[in-house]
Amino acid sequence: MEIQIRRGDTLWSISNTFNVPLPLIIHSNPTANPNTLSIGQTIQIPGYRITTYTIKSGDSFYKIATKERISVDSLMLVNPGMVPTALQIGQQIRIPRRVTTTIIDPRQNYDSGILASDLEALATLYPFMRQRTIGNSVMGKDLIELQIGNGERIVHWNGAFHANEWITTPVIMEFVNSYLLALTNNETIRGRAMLPFYDQVTLSVVPMVDPDGVDLVLNGPPEGNFGEEALAINGGSPDFSGWKANIRGVDLNNQFPAKWEVEAERKPKSPAPRDFPGYAPLTEPESIAMAELAGELSFDKMLAFHTQGEVIFWGFENLEPPRSRTIVNEFSRVSGYEPIRYVDSFAGYKDWFIQDFREPGFTVELGQGINPLPIGQFDEIYQKTLGIFLASMYM
Ligand SMILES: [Zn+2]
Repeated sequence: MEIQIRRGDTLWSISNTFNVPLPLIIHSNPTANPNTLSIGQTIQIPGYRITTYTIKSGDSFYKIATKERISVDSLMLVNPGMVPTALQIGQQIRIPRRVTTTIIDPRQNYDSGILASDLEALATLYPFMRQRTIGNSVMGKDLIELQIGNGERIVHWNGAFHANEWITTPVIMEFVNSYLLALTNNETIRGRAMLPFYDQVTLSVVPMVDPDGVDLVLNGPPEGNFGEEALAINGGSPDFSGWKANIRGVDLNNQFPAKWEVEAERKPKSPAPRDFPGYAPLTEPESIAMAELAGELSFDKMLAFHTQGEVIFWGFENLEPPRSRTIVNEFSRVSGYEPIRYVDSFAGYKDWFIQDFREPGFTVELGQGINPLPIGQFDEIYQKTLGIFLASMYM
């Protein structure tokens, strides 16, 4: 929602008028200098939408504000030039309405198009969330990173490294929406205040590392060469439910230079629905973008969300720092998931992250069953993952 600055307004007074934390107002207006606001300048207010209302007999701004549980001043701000003592019956006024529920629907076949439109809706409603493109998929789709918060500690999450594990994307997005909502309305999640996280943590999220693969699993092969090639790699079968790779048959989570040769030796030697590590490490644009992001941001902590098995892998070659154990024990306590230190599988993002940065990195395997997990498992998975999301920010 937008308002125009009047004489005497400050971001602080605006924050009070709408009861939205000041840092969120400041960061929703990155180009506005709080000390030199000009009259008529447009300011974004996160977490509000404008609705219209028709004046009835006996209405006053005070009466409407009381009924809507907003301040009279907020009504004045969104109806500039209107004289509250001269309201006319039948006149249309604007009412700022606080958004009090999440706006996305995660319980559906969550492809890259749904992700893009959800991100756009969230960015409009919560402009303090930052978004950027960190690269493009093989088919040219944007690889989006979003960031929330301004803390020194950078916590990174990613989802859908593997195509048929796409349920990880809506699980992450449901938390992102809930976090944005709680921040703006100064509410708690599981009894925890969220604003301190906003100040202490910069949350970096890549919700869908393999958008081409996710769309292939959910929507079938695309028109043209990429679709024909994928169909051939899949042995001609139109059933892509077992497909983990990117669109040209490279397993993105087998692409990282951390004992990659071991995987190359024992895994498929050519493009396949799963497990082909590529002809060399980091040949695919999706894995390159993820490696560059880690290099740029130097995450303090990294969580890669996969499915399934309700386990958390947390070690690599004894290179993980001691605090990885403390953190994974907390993840386990809040989720019931089992920590597993080492596994005979290499060249994953978590392996490479631990090896190159010596910071805590985790592969979190959500849910039970056979991939792709049915969306019917969403609520159960979300409840268990919620504790891990929170712990990744306070540990
Ligand atoms: Zn996976």
